[in-house]
Amino acid sequence: MFCPKCGTILRVKEKAKKKVLFCGNCNYTKSPEEGEKMELKEKVSTGKQVEVIEKTELLPKIRAQCKKCDNDVAYYWSYQTRSADEPETRFFKCTKCGHTWREYS
Ligand SMILES: [Zn+2]
Ligand SMILES: [Zn+2]
Repeated sequence: MFCPKCGTILRVKEKAKKKVLFCGNCNYTKSPEEGEKMELKEKVSTGKQVEVIEKTELLPKIRAQCKKCDNDVAYYWSYQTRSADEPETRFFKCTKCGHTWREYS
């Protein structure tokens, strides 16, 4: 590893029990471990289960009958499963009582 600022070979030192790379010439420091861990956390978050309730305010409304309260307006969104061969699943959420249901197209 070379310093991106001045090209000097980086040296390893311990800082707060973590190994960091540093440049003895211009004092540039780098901690590669932290950066990698941050990226991993973000990638793992999407699972099979779809929980989109927090996003409802951004969703378009559509005419759909709620089975629970007979309200006929619901939020609407669709979800494409991992394989492109499978049909997308459509989700509805009643604007009145919050009842959520799905429909396979
Ligand atoms: Zn340097
Ligand atoms: Zn309802």
